[in-house]
Amino acid sequence: MTASATTNGGYLSSTSKTSNSHKSSKTNSAILHRHIHHEPITVVGASGNYLELSSGQKILDATGGAAVSCLGHGNVKVKEAISRQMDQVSYCHSLFFGSSAGEELGRELISSTAGRMARAFIVSSGSEAMEAAMKLARQYFLELSPPQPNRRNFIARKESYHGTTLGALSMSGHVARRALFEPMLLENVSKVSACNAYRGMQQDETTGAYVARLAQELDDEFVRVGPETVCAFVAEPVVGAALGCVPSVPGYFQAMAAVCDKYGALLIFDEVMSGMGRTGTLHAWEQEGVVPDIQTIGKGLGGGYAAVAGLMIGYRVLNTLDNGTGAFAHGQTYQGHPIACAAALEVQRIIRREGLVENVRRMGELLSSQLKQRLETHPYVGDIRGRGLFWGLEFVRNKETKEPFNPKDGIAIGVHEKGLQPQYSISLYPGTGTVDGRCGDHVLLAPAYNCTESDITLIVDTTVKVIEDFFANRT
Ligand code: PLP
Repeated sequence: MTASATTNGGYLSSTSKTSNSHKSSKTNSAILHRHIHHEPITVVGASGNYLELSSGQKILDATGGAAVSCLGHGNVKVKEAISRQMDQVSYCHSLFFGSSAGEELGRELISSTAGRMARAFIVSSGSEAMEAAMKLARQYFLELSPPQPNRRNFIARKESYHGTTLGALSMSGHVARRALFEPMLLENVSKVSACNAYRGMQQDETTGAYVARLAQELDDEFVRVGPETVCAFVAEPVVGAALGCVPSVPGYFQAMAAVCDKYGALLIFDEVMSGMGRTGTLHAWEQEGVVPDIQTIGKGLGGGYAAVAGLMIGYRVLNTLDNGTGAFAHGQTYQGHPIACAAALEVQRIIRREGLVENVRRMGELLSSQLKQRLETHPYVGDIRGRGLFWGLEFVRNKETKEPFNPKDGIAIGVHEKGLQPQYSISLYPGTGTVDGRCGDHVLLAPAYNCTESDITLIVDTTVKVIEDFFANRT
Protein backbone atom coordinates (compact mmCIF):
# COMPACT_ATOMS: atom_id res chain seq x y z
CA MET A 1 0.00 0.00 0.00
CA THR A 2 2.12 2.91 -1.21
CA ALA A 3 -0.33 5.62 -2.06
CA SER A 4 -0.91 8.53 0.21
CA ALA A 5 -3.72 10.32 -1.51
CA THR A 6 -5.41 13.56 -0.78
CA THR A 7 -8.76 14.53 -2.14
CA ASN A 8 -8.76 17.77 -4.00
CA GLY A 9 -12.39 18.77 -3.86
CA GLY A 10 -13.27 15.22 -4.77
CA TYR A 11 -10.93 15.27 -7.74
CA LEU A 12 -8.31 12.82 -6.73
CA SER A 13 -4.75 13.92 -6.49
CA SER A 14 -1.97 11.98 -4.94
CA THR A 15 1.28 12.68 -3.19
CA SER A 16 2.79 9.33 -4.05
CA LYS A 17 5.45 8.94 -6.71
CA THR A 18 5.16 6.63 -9.65
CA SER A 19 8.00 6.11 -12.06
CA ASN A 20 6.22 8.05 -14.76
CA SER A 21 4.51 10.76 -12.82
CA HIS A 22 7.27 13.39 -13.13
CA LYS A 23 5.90 14.91 -9.95
CA SER A 24 8.00 17.30 -7.94
CA SER A 25 7.44 19.86 -5.26
CA LYS A 26 8.13 22.52 -7.85
CA THR A 27 6.81 22.42 -11.37
CA ASN A 28 7.66 24.25 -14.55
CA SER A 29 4.18 23.65 -15.91
CA ALA A 30 2.51 26.77 -17.27
CA ILE A 31 -0.90 25.12 -17.18
CA LEU A 32 -2.71 24.71 -13.87
CA HIS A 33 -3.61 21.05 -13.88
CA ARG A 34 -5.42 19.80 -10.83
CA HIS A 35 -2.49 20.14 -8.46
CA ILE A 36 -0.32 23.26 -8.37
CA HIS A 37 2.89 21.39 -7.54
CA HIS A 38 2.53 18.41 -9.84
CA GLU A 39 3.57 18.26 -13.41
CA PRO A 40 1.19 16.14 -15.42
CA ILE A 41 2.16 12.87 -16.99
CA THR A 42 2.63 14.08 -20.54
CA VAL A 43 0.95 12.08 -23.29
CA VAL A 44 2.82 12.50 -26.55
CA GLY A 45 0.88 10.06 -28.71
CA ALA A 46 -2.29 8.02 -28.72
CA SER A 47 -3.42 5.23 -30.98
CA GLY A 48 -6.16 2.63 -30.65
CA ASN A 49 -6.40 1.61 -26.99
CA TYR A 50 -3.00 3.01 -26.04
CA LEU A 51 -1.59 6.28 -24.75
CA GLU A 52 2.11 6.92 -25.25
CA LEU A 53 3.91 8.92 -22.56
CA SER A 54 6.93 11.18 -22.97
CA SER A 55 8.93 8.49 -21.15
CA GLY A 56 8.14 6.06 -23.99
CA GLN A 57 5.83 3.98 -21.76
CA LYS A 58 2.63 2.80 -23.41
CA ILE A 59 -0.49 2.80 -21.24
CA LEU A 60 -3.51 0.61 -21.95
CA ASP A 61 -6.43 3.04 -21.76
CA ALA A 62 -9.07 0.80 -20.19
CA THR A 63 -11.39 3.69 -19.39
CA GLY A 64 -11.15 5.98 -22.41
CA GLY A 65 -10.35 8.80 -19.99
CA ALA A 66 -13.64 9.17 -18.16
CA ALA A 67 -15.66 6.88 -20.46
CA VAL A 68 -15.01 9.27 -23.35
CA SER A 69 -12.86 7.64 -26.06
CA CYS A 70 -15.52 5.30 -27.39
CA LEU A 71 -13.66 4.68 -30.68
CA GLY A 72 -10.22 4.58 -29.12
CA HIS A 73 -7.57 7.06 -30.21
CA GLY A 74 -6.38 8.30 -33.59
CA ASN A 75 -9.37 7.34 -35.73
CA VAL A 76 -8.47 8.38 -39.26
CA LYS A 77 -12.06 8.82 -40.47
CA VAL A 78 -12.84 11.25 -37.67
CA LYS A 79 -9.62 13.10 -38.36
CA GLU A 80 -10.57 13.45 -42.03
CA ALA A 81 -14.08 14.63 -41.16
CA ILE A 82 -12.62 17.32 -38.89
CA SER A 83 -10.17 18.34 -41.58
CA ARG A 84 -12.95 18.58 -44.22
CA GLN A 85 -14.95 20.76 -41.87
CA MET A 86 -11.90 22.99 -41.29
CA ASP A 87 -11.69 23.51 -45.05
CA GLN A 88 -15.39 24.33 -45.24
CA VAL A 89 -16.14 26.47 -42.18
CA SER A 90 -14.53 26.38 -38.77
CA TYR A 91 -16.85 28.76 -36.94
CA CYS A 92 -20.07 30.68 -37.31
CA HIS A 93 -22.29 32.13 -34.58
CA SER A 94 -25.33 29.98 -33.91
CA LEU A 95 -27.49 33.02 -33.15
CA PHE A 96 -27.44 33.98 -36.83
CA PHE A 97 -26.18 30.95 -38.73
CA GLY A 98 -26.22 27.18 -38.80
CA SER A 99 -23.80 24.69 -40.29
CA SER A 100 -24.57 21.64 -42.38
CA ALA A 101 -22.50 19.55 -39.94
CA GLY A 102 -24.77 20.73 -37.11
CA GLU A 103 -27.93 19.98 -39.11
CA GLU A 104 -26.73 16.51 -40.08
CA LEU A 105 -25.68 15.75 -36.52
CA GLY A 106 -29.10 16.82 -35.29
CA ARG A 107 -30.80 14.55 -37.84
CA GLU A 108 -28.52 11.64 -36.94
CA LEU A 109 -29.32 12.06 -33.25
CA ILE A 110 -33.06 12.49 -33.69
CA SER A 111 -33.38 9.50 -36.00
CA SER A 112 -31.51 7.40 -33.41
CA THR A 113 -34.47 7.91 -31.06
CA ALA A 114 -37.02 6.49 -33.52
CA GLY A 115 -39.05 9.70 -33.32
CA ARG A 116 -39.10 9.92 -29.54
CA MET A 117 -37.04 13.12 -29.41
CA ALA A 118 -37.80 16.28 -31.38
CA ARG A 119 -34.60 18.33 -31.46
CA ALA A 120 -30.96 18.28 -30.47
CA PHE A 121 -29.07 21.24 -28.98
CA ILE A 122 -25.27 21.16 -29.12
CA VAL A 123 -22.89 22.66 -26.53
CA SER A 124 -19.31 22.04 -25.48
CA SER A 125 -19.45 20.10 -22.20
CA GLY A 126 -21.67 17.96 -20.03
CA SER A 127 -21.87 20.64 -17.36
CA GLU A 128 -23.14 23.16 -19.90
CA ALA A 129 -25.68 20.63 -21.11
CA MET A 130 -26.99 20.20 -17.56
CA GLU A 131 -27.21 23.95 -17.06
CA ALA A 132 -29.15 24.24 -20.30
CA ALA A 133 -31.47 21.40 -19.25
CA MET A 134 -32.34 23.21 -16.01
CA LYS A 135 -33.12 26.44 -17.84
CA LEU A 136 -35.13 24.67 -20.52
CA ALA A 137 -37.24 22.95 -17.87
CA ARG A 138 -37.97 26.27 -16.18
CA GLN A 139 -38.81 27.93 -19.50
CA TYR A 140 -41.16 25.06 -20.39
CA PHE A 141 -43.33 25.81 -17.34
CA LEU A 142 -43.29 29.54 -18.04
CA GLU A 143 -44.58 28.92 -21.56
CA LEU A 144 -47.25 26.40 -20.68
CA SER A 145 -50.78 27.60 -21.09
CA PRO A 146 -51.60 28.70 -18.46
CA PRO A 147 -48.03 29.32 -17.24
CA GLN A 148 -46.78 27.77 -13.99
CA PRO A 149 -44.28 30.35 -12.72
CA ASN A 150 -44.02 28.73 -9.30
CA ARG A 151 -42.09 25.81 -10.82
CA ARG A 152 -38.52 26.59 -9.81
CA ASN A 153 -37.35 23.56 -7.81
CA PHE A 154 -35.50 20.45 -8.91
CA ILE A 155 -35.29 17.06 -7.23
CA ALA A 156 -32.07 15.21 -7.95
CA ARG A 157 -30.37 12.26 -6.24
CA LYS A 158 -27.87 12.07 -3.39
CA GLU A 159 -25.51 9.73 -5.19
CA SER A 160 -24.90 11.65 -8.38
CA TYR A 161 -22.55 13.84 -10.36
CA HIS A 162 -23.93 16.23 -12.97
CA GLY A 163 -21.06 18.62 -13.57
CA THR A 164 -18.79 21.27 -12.21
CA THR A 165 -20.57 24.56 -12.93
CA LEU A 166 -22.69 25.93 -10.12
CA GLY A 167 -26.10 24.82 -11.40
CA ALA A 168 -24.89 21.36 -12.39
CA LEU A 169 -22.95 21.03 -9.13
CA SER A 170 -26.07 22.05 -7.20
CA MET A 171 -27.85 19.06 -8.70
CA SER A 172 -24.92 16.79 -7.87
CA GLY A 173 -24.81 14.90 -4.60
CA HIS A 174 -21.06 14.33 -4.78
CA VAL A 175 -20.18 15.56 -1.28
CA ALA A 176 -16.46 16.15 -1.79
CA ARG A 177 -16.88 18.01 -5.07
CA ARG A 178 -19.57 20.24 -3.52
CA ALA A 179 -17.91 20.88 -0.17
CA LEU A 180 -15.87 24.03 -0.84
CA PHE A 181 -18.65 25.71 -2.76
CA GLU A 182 -21.62 24.70 -0.62
CA PRO A 183 -22.58 28.29 0.35
CA MET A 184 -22.73 29.24 -3.34
CA LEU A 185 -24.92 26.36 -4.50
CA LEU A 186 -28.57 26.70 -5.46
CA GLU A 187 -31.13 26.24 -2.74
CA ASN A 188 -33.85 25.13 -5.12
CA VAL A 189 -32.39 21.63 -5.56
CA SER A 190 -33.18 18.85 -3.10
CA LYS A 191 -32.13 15.20 -3.15
CA VAL A 192 -33.56 11.72 -2.75
CA SER A 193 -31.69 8.41 -2.62
CA ALA A 194 -30.41 6.93 -5.87
CA CYS A 195 -31.21 3.32 -6.69
CA ASN A 196 -28.25 1.24 -5.57
CA ALA A 197 -29.04 -2.44 -5.05
CA TYR A 198 -25.71 -3.18 -3.34
CA ARG A 199 -25.98 -0.49 -0.68
CA GLY A 200 -29.59 0.64 -0.73
CA MET A 201 -31.61 -2.59 -0.66
CA GLN A 202 -32.39 -3.96 2.77
CA GLN A 203 -31.82 -7.60 3.63
CA ASP A 204 -34.77 -9.70 2.48
CA GLU A 205 -36.27 -6.75 0.62
CA THR A 206 -37.64 -7.67 -2.81
CA THR A 207 -36.84 -5.57 -5.86
CA GLY A 208 -40.48 -4.54 -6.05
CA ALA A 209 -40.54 -3.43 -2.42
CA TYR A 210 -37.29 -1.50 -2.90
CA VAL A 211 -38.68 0.30 -5.94
CA ALA A 212 -41.91 1.10 -4.07
CA ARG A 213 -39.89 2.50 -1.16
CA LEU A 214 -37.83 4.75 -3.47
CA ALA A 215 -40.96 5.88 -5.32
CA GLN A 216 -42.52 6.79 -1.98
CA GLU A 217 -39.38 8.71 -1.02
CA LEU A 218 -39.64 10.71 -4.26
CA ASP A 219 -43.36 11.24 -3.77
CA ASP A 220 -42.75 12.46 -0.21
CA GLU A 221 -40.09 14.87 -1.48
CA PHE A 222 -42.51 16.31 -4.06
CA VAL A 223 -45.05 16.84 -1.27
CA ARG A 224 -42.46 18.35 1.08
CA VAL A 225 -41.18 20.80 -1.54
CA GLY A 226 -44.63 21.51 -2.95
CA PRO A 227 -45.55 19.52 -6.08
CA GLU A 228 -46.64 22.64 -7.95
CA THR A 229 -43.13 24.11 -7.49
CA VAL A 230 -41.08 21.27 -9.00
CA CYS A 231 -39.70 21.59 -12.54
CA ALA A 232 -38.10 18.17 -12.85
CA PHE A 233 -36.65 15.03 -11.35
CA VAL A 234 -33.04 14.60 -12.53
CA ALA A 235 -31.14 11.31 -12.63
CA GLU A 236 -28.28 9.44 -14.28
CA PRO A 237 -29.68 6.17 -15.68
CA VAL A 238 -26.43 4.46 -14.66
CA VAL A 239 -24.59 6.41 -11.95
CA GLY A 240 -21.06 7.13 -13.15
CA ALA A 241 -18.41 9.05 -11.23
CA ALA A 242 -20.32 9.33 -7.93
CA LEU A 243 -20.86 5.61 -7.41
CA GLY A 244 -19.00 3.69 -10.10
CA CYS A 245 -21.34 2.32 -12.80
CA VAL A 246 -24.43 1.60 -10.73
CA PRO A 247 -27.52 0.75 -12.81
CA SER A 248 -31.02 0.80 -11.38
CA VAL A 249 -33.07 -2.27 -10.58
CA PRO A 250 -35.86 -3.24 -13.03
CA GLY A 251 -38.93 -1.04 -12.80
CA TYR A 252 -37.21 1.77 -10.90
CA PHE A 253 -37.37 4.46 -13.59
CA GLN A 254 -40.91 3.54 -14.57
CA ALA A 255 -41.92 4.10 -10.95
CA MET A 256 -40.05 7.41 -10.81
CA ALA A 257 -41.61 8.55 -14.09
CA ALA A 258 -45.06 7.74 -12.68
CA VAL A 259 -44.39 10.04 -9.71
CA CYS A 260 -43.25 12.82 -12.08
CA ASP A 261 -46.42 12.32 -14.17
CA LYS A 262 -48.58 12.44 -11.04
CA TYR A 263 -47.25 15.92 -10.27
CA GLY A 264 -46.80 17.17 -13.83
CA ALA A 265 -43.01 17.49 -13.50
CA LEU A 266 -40.48 16.76 -16.23
CA LEU A 267 -38.08 13.82 -16.23
CA ILE A 268 -34.47 14.75 -17.08
CA PHE A 269 -31.96 12.01 -17.78
CA ASP A 270 -28.28 12.83 -17.52
CA GLU A 271 -26.74 10.47 -20.06
CA VAL A 272 -23.49 12.43 -20.33
CA MET A 273 -21.49 9.42 -19.15
CA SER A 274 -23.84 6.48 -19.69
CA GLY A 275 -25.32 7.48 -23.05
CA MET A 276 -24.43 7.20 -26.75
CA GLY A 277 -23.91 3.44 -26.68
CA ARG A 278 -21.84 3.03 -23.54
CA THR A 279 -24.34 0.83 -21.70
CA GLY A 280 -25.34 -1.37 -24.64
CA THR A 281 -28.11 0.69 -26.25
CA LEU A 282 -27.48 3.99 -27.98
CA HIS A 283 -29.57 5.73 -25.32
CA ALA A 284 -29.50 4.39 -21.79
CA TRP A 285 -33.26 5.08 -21.43
CA GLU A 286 -33.99 2.40 -24.03
CA GLN A 287 -33.36 -0.15 -21.26
CA GLU A 288 -35.60 1.56 -18.72
CA GLY A 289 -39.01 1.51 -20.39
CA VAL A 290 -39.30 5.29 -20.13
CA VAL A 291 -38.44 8.21 -22.39
CA PRO A 292 -37.21 11.33 -20.62
CA ASP A 293 -38.53 14.77 -21.54
CA ILE A 294 -34.98 16.10 -21.74
CA GLN A 295 -31.82 14.04 -22.10
CA THR A 296 -28.25 15.30 -21.83
CA ILE A 297 -25.44 13.62 -23.76
CA GLY A 298 -21.70 14.15 -23.77
CA LYS A 299 -18.67 11.96 -23.56
CA GLY A 300 -19.52 9.28 -26.12
CA LEU A 301 -21.05 11.87 -28.44
CA GLY A 302 -17.72 13.06 -29.79
CA GLY A 303 -15.57 10.28 -28.37
CA GLY A 304 -12.98 12.83 -27.22
CA TYR A 305 -12.28 14.07 -30.75
CA ALA A 306 -13.91 17.40 -29.93
CA ALA A 307 -15.34 19.15 -26.89
CA VAL A 308 -18.98 18.42 -27.57
CA ALA A 309 -22.10 17.61 -25.59
CA GLY A 310 -25.77 18.29 -26.00
CA LEU A 311 -29.43 18.06 -25.14
CA MET A 312 -32.07 15.92 -26.72
CA ILE A 313 -35.44 17.61 -26.33
CA GLY A 314 -38.75 15.74 -26.36
CA TYR A 315 -41.96 16.86 -28.11
CA ARG A 316 -43.72 17.87 -24.91
CA VAL A 317 -41.09 20.55 -24.26
CA LEU A 318 -40.44 21.55 -27.86
CA ASN A 319 -44.13 21.96 -28.73
CA THR A 320 -44.69 24.12 -25.67
CA LEU A 321 -41.88 26.48 -26.66
CA ASP A 322 -43.17 26.38 -30.22
CA ASN A 323 -46.58 27.56 -29.03
CA GLY A 324 -44.93 30.10 -26.75
CA THR A 325 -42.00 32.35 -27.54
CA GLY A 326 -40.69 30.02 -30.23
CA ALA A 327 -37.13 30.23 -28.90
CA PHE A 328 -34.99 28.74 -26.16
CA ALA A 329 -33.67 31.64 -24.08
CA HIS A 330 -30.14 30.30 -23.84
CA GLY A 331 -27.12 30.85 -26.06
CA GLN A 332 -23.37 30.44 -25.96
CA THR A 333 -20.55 31.54 -28.23
CA TYR A 334 -19.50 28.00 -29.11
CA GLN A 335 -22.96 26.48 -29.27
CA GLY A 336 -23.30 24.15 -32.27
CA HIS A 337 -19.62 24.61 -33.10
CA PRO A 338 -19.18 23.30 -36.67
CA ILE A 339 -15.96 21.40 -36.01
CA ALA A 340 -17.35 19.81 -32.87
CA CYS A 341 -20.49 18.86 -34.79
CA ALA A 342 -18.48 17.38 -37.68
CA ALA A 343 -16.42 15.29 -35.26
CA ALA A 344 -19.49 14.06 -33.38
CA LEU A 345 -21.33 13.32 -36.62
CA GLU A 346 -18.52 11.11 -37.87
CA VAL A 347 -18.21 9.34 -34.50
CA GLN A 348 -21.94 8.61 -34.51
CA ARG A 349 -21.92 7.42 -38.11
CA ILE A 350 -19.06 5.05 -37.37
CA ILE A 351 -20.91 3.68 -34.33
CA ARG A 352 -24.02 3.08 -36.48
CA ARG A 353 -22.34 1.78 -39.64
CA GLU A 354 -19.96 -0.56 -37.84
CA GLY A 355 -22.64 -1.95 -35.52
CA LEU A 356 -20.61 -0.93 -32.48
CA VAL A 357 -23.50 -0.86 -30.03
CA GLU A 358 -23.99 -4.55 -30.74
CA ASN A 359 -20.27 -5.03 -30.08
CA VAL A 360 -20.65 -3.14 -26.79
CA ARG A 361 -23.29 -5.68 -25.75
CA ARG A 362 -21.21 -8.70 -26.78
CA MET A 363 -17.94 -7.44 -25.32
CA GLY A 364 -19.80 -6.19 -22.27
CA GLU A 365 -21.02 -9.69 -21.51
CA LEU A 366 -17.48 -10.98 -21.80
CA LEU A 367 -16.12 -8.19 -19.61
CA SER A 368 -18.76 -8.78 -16.96
CA SER A 369 -18.32 -12.55 -16.88
CA GLN A 370 -14.52 -12.34 -16.76
CA LEU A 371 -14.55 -9.71 -14.00
CA LYS A 372 -17.00 -11.74 -11.92
CA GLN A 373 -15.14 -14.98 -12.48
CA ARG A 374 -11.79 -13.47 -11.50
CA LEU A 375 -12.69 -10.96 -8.79
CA GLU A 376 -15.96 -11.99 -7.15
CA THR A 377 -14.16 -13.85 -4.39
CA HIS A 378 -11.47 -11.23 -3.84
CA PRO A 379 -11.62 -10.23 -0.15
CA TYR A 380 -11.65 -6.49 -0.88
CA VAL A 381 -13.92 -6.41 -3.94
CA GLY A 382 -17.41 -5.84 -2.56
CA ASP A 383 -19.42 -5.35 -5.72
CA ILE A 384 -18.99 -5.76 -9.47
CA ARG A 385 -21.73 -3.97 -11.42
CA GLY A 386 -22.40 -2.19 -14.65
CA ARG A 387 -23.92 -2.42 -18.09
CA GLY A 388 -22.51 -2.76 -21.59
CA LEU A 389 -18.90 -1.60 -21.56
CA PHE A 390 -19.35 0.42 -18.37
CA TRP A 391 -18.27 -1.56 -15.29
CA GLY A 392 -17.36 -0.60 -11.76
CA LEU A 393 -15.47 -2.47 -9.04
CA GLU A 394 -16.27 -1.30 -5.52
CA PHE A 395 -13.64 -1.95 -2.85
CA VAL A 396 -14.65 -2.57 0.76
CA ARG A 397 -12.74 -3.04 3.98
CA ASN A 398 -15.12 -5.78 5.07
CA LYS A 399 -17.02 -7.88 2.57
CA GLU A 400 -19.54 -9.14 5.15
CA THR A 401 -20.54 -5.76 6.52
CA LYS A 402 -19.78 -3.81 3.27
CA GLU A 403 -17.82 -1.36 5.40
CA PRO A 404 -16.12 1.06 3.00
CA PHE A 405 -12.51 2.12 3.31
CA ASN A 406 -11.77 5.45 4.89
CA PRO A 407 -11.49 7.91 1.96
CA LYS A 408 -8.21 9.06 3.53
CA ASP A 409 -6.70 5.63 2.77
CA GLY A 410 -6.68 6.62 -0.90
CA ILE A 411 -7.64 3.15 -2.08
CA ALA A 412 -9.06 4.06 -5.48
CA ILE A 413 -6.28 6.49 -6.39
CA GLY A 414 -3.79 3.94 -5.07
CA VAL A 415 -5.15 1.27 -7.43
CA HIS A 416 -5.06 3.77 -10.29
CA GLU A 417 -1.43 4.68 -9.57
CA LYS A 418 -0.43 1.06 -9.18
CA GLY A 419 -1.87 0.49 -12.65
CA LEU A 420 0.36 3.19 -14.11
CA GLN A 421 3.51 1.43 -12.94
CA PRO A 422 5.49 0.01 -15.87
CA GLN A 423 4.85 -3.67 -15.04
CA TYR A 424 1.06 -3.09 -15.46
CA SER A 425 0.76 0.05 -17.63
CA ILE A 426 -3.01 0.37 -17.50
CA SER A 427 -5.24 3.36 -16.78
CA LEU A 428 -8.21 2.68 -14.47
CA TYR A 429 -10.56 5.52 -13.54
CA PRO A 430 -10.74 5.98 -9.74
CA GLY A 431 -13.49 7.37 -7.52
CA THR A 432 -13.74 7.60 -3.76
CA GLY A 433 -16.64 7.18 -1.34
CA THR A 434 -18.56 10.34 -1.85
CA VAL A 435 -21.80 10.23 0.07
CA ASP A 436 -21.27 10.53 3.79
CA GLY A 437 -18.98 7.52 3.73
CA ARG A 438 -21.85 5.31 2.61
CA CYS A 439 -20.24 4.14 -0.59
CA GLY A 440 -16.83 2.77 -1.10
CA ASP A 441 -13.88 3.43 -3.32
CA HIS A 442 -14.24 2.20 -6.85
CA VAL A 443 -12.55 2.05 -10.21
CA LEU A 444 -14.35 2.24 -13.54
CA LEU A 445 -13.65 0.27 -16.68
CA ALA A 446 -14.92 1.72 -19.94
CA PRO A 447 -13.14 0.21 -22.95
CA ALA A 448 -13.66 1.47 -26.48
CA TYR A 449 -16.78 0.22 -28.29
CA ASN A 450 -14.65 -1.39 -31.01
CA CYS A 451 -12.58 -3.50 -28.61
CA THR A 452 -12.01 -7.18 -29.31
CA GLU A 453 -12.13 -10.32 -27.18
CA SER A 454 -8.38 -10.21 -26.74
CA ASP A 455 -8.55 -6.55 -25.66
CA ILE A 456 -11.07 -7.51 -22.98
CA THR A 457 -8.97 -10.41 -21.77
CA LEU A 458 -5.88 -8.20 -21.57
CA ILE A 459 -7.80 -5.50 -19.68
CA VAL A 460 -9.18 -8.02 -17.19
CA ASP A 461 -5.86 -9.86 -16.75
CA THR A 462 -4.03 -6.61 -16.08
CA THR A 463 -6.73 -5.19 -13.81
CA VAL A 464 -6.79 -8.38 -11.73
CA LYS A 465 -3.01 -8.30 -11.38
CA VAL A 466 -3.06 -4.65 -10.28
CA ILE A 467 -5.77 -5.30 -7.68
CA GLU A 468 -4.16 -8.49 -6.35
CA ASP A 469 -0.78 -6.80 -5.99
CA PHE A 470 -2.22 -3.63 -4.52
CA PHE A 471 -4.06 -5.48 -1.76
CA ALA A 472 -1.45 -8.23 -1.31
CA ASN A 473 0.04 -6.91 1.93
CA ARG A 474 -3.14 -5.63 3.46
CA THR A 475 -4.21 -7.27 6.70
N1 PLP B 1 -22.96 14.44 -16.06
C1 PLP B 1 -22.33 13.30 -15.81
C2 PLP B 1 -23.13 12.06 -15.54
C3 PLP B 1 -20.93 13.25 -15.80
O1 PLP B 1 -20.30 12.09 -15.54
C4 PLP B 1 -20.21 14.44 -16.06
C5 PLP B 1 -18.73 14.44 -16.05
O2 PLP B 1 -18.09 13.54 -15.57
C6 PLP B 1 -20.92 15.61 -16.32
C7 PLP B 1 -22.30 15.59 -16.32
C8 PLP B 1 -20.19 16.89 -16.61
O3 PLP B 1 -19.58 16.81 -17.86
P1 PLP B 1 -18.31 17.71 -18.20
O4 PLP B 1 -17.20 17.26 -17.36
O5 PLP B 1 -18.11 17.47 -19.68
O6 PLP B 1 -18.70 19.13 -17.94
